Amino acid sequence: MSEGISQPDQPETRQGEGRDLFSKFDDLIQMREGLLATGQEDPFNLVMEKVLSPTRAICNGRDTILLGTYNYMGMTFDADVIAAGKQALEDFGSGTTGSRVLNGTYRGHRECEDALKAFYAMDHAMVFSTGYQANLGIISTIAGKGDYIVLDIDSHASIWDGCKLGDAEVVPFRHNDIAAMDKRLGRIPEGAGKLVILEGVYSMLGDIAPLAEMVAVAKKHGAMVLVDEAHSMGFIGEHGRGVAEAQGVLDQVDFVIGTFSKSVGTVGGFCVSNHPKFEIMRLVCRPYVFTASLPPSVVATAATSIAKLMAGSDKRAHLWENSQRLHQGLTALGFELGTKEPQSAIVAVIMPDLARGAAMWEALLKEGLYVNLARPPATPANMTLLRCSLCAEHSAEEVETILGMFERAGKAVGII
Ligand code: PMP
Repeated sequence: MSEGISQPDQPETRQGEGRDLFSKFDDLIQMREGLLATGQEDPFNLVMEKVLSPTRAICNGRDTILLGTYNYMGMTFDADVIAAGKQALEDFGSGTTGSRVLNGTYRGHRECEDALKAFYAMDHAMVFSTGYQANLGIISTIAGKGDYIVLDIDSHASIWDGCKLGDAEVVPFRHNDIAAMDKRLGRIPEGAGKLVILEGVYSMLGDIAPLAEMVAVAKKHGAMVLVDEAHSMGFIGEHGRGVAEAQGVLDQVDFVIGTFSKSVGTVGGFCVSNHPKFEIMRLVCRPYVFTASLPPSVVATAATSIAKLMAGSDKRAHLWENSQRLHQGLTALGFELGTKEPQSAIVAVIMPDLARGAAMWEALLKEGLYVNLARPPATPANMTLLRCSLCAEHSAEEVETILGMFERAGKAVGII
């Protein structure tokens, strides 16, 4: 041991016994036990015993309206989507048992990638087993040691994990701050590889990025741009291609990342790109190569759903109405929301603290409404949030019912 270097305090251990590697979770375990000891229903242990439709389920024994599922376009019970999944299960079996680069590419995977290329009008599409893996794989493979990643501080966990896996220099900037992003890019050494990572919709507060300005700044500095459109695909933009489409900069975005676990209504992730060398990713991207591919039934449901989303403009319009109705109603009731105006299908209700947030979550569940409870470290600025994600299948009357539930629960818990 070198002199002058202090050692961190070690808990007492008996000889021959190592430190319990779980001791790092003690604070979290205590906080959780403290909360549950008050009789609070566990917000992270909800069970859906039966799912009745995209907007209703039996949750913990109660008939419940779903307002926290990211099932934005309600595709999970679409008759064509279900029929495609059943047929693929019959024709191709339950799973591929292999990697995409060995025995795991079936006709359905190709059809799914063709559907994505058509949806985005782009040259290349690569399907991953989840959206998490799409970010992990693409980011870590294109930005490695000696490269620079400039990213929004509120980026999703899968983006941060992709940065860590790739070992590039990571330079975060304040959320949606165009000038800060410009400054960080200006300090990167001449000739270095640069990747800017942004999200279309930020899922915690439901706010969108000023992509038109940010993409222009990135291009001024010669950076490549990756945009995660997980929460906008299928809904935002004329063709549902996302915030980059809505703001007219999709053609300048080098990589769009997305997921099948939200508007598409199944599971899986993807990247689309016009980069002429993109196909090499299939051989060098470890989270693509070293894992089994999606089951045939899943890619069949995804391909069918994506094709139907291309013609979803009526549903998109209704979802905007739902988002506006909920946002206006909650504002009128006196709740504090994540954005002044609705910017997406996510409406985040800011809670004063975790205890009251959890109490409000439970009061809503007892009313028959499920929303997401979000707390640090997932949330920005240590906020506790009740996140509502609307569905195109919610009716206007259902949104009014939801507002009544918020009013009663909010008064009972003393938040309004
Ligand atoms: N990116 C963002 C912005 C997300 O919110 C999520 C999931 N919540 C993902 C990526 C990961 O998607 P998946 O569920 O397909 O892993």
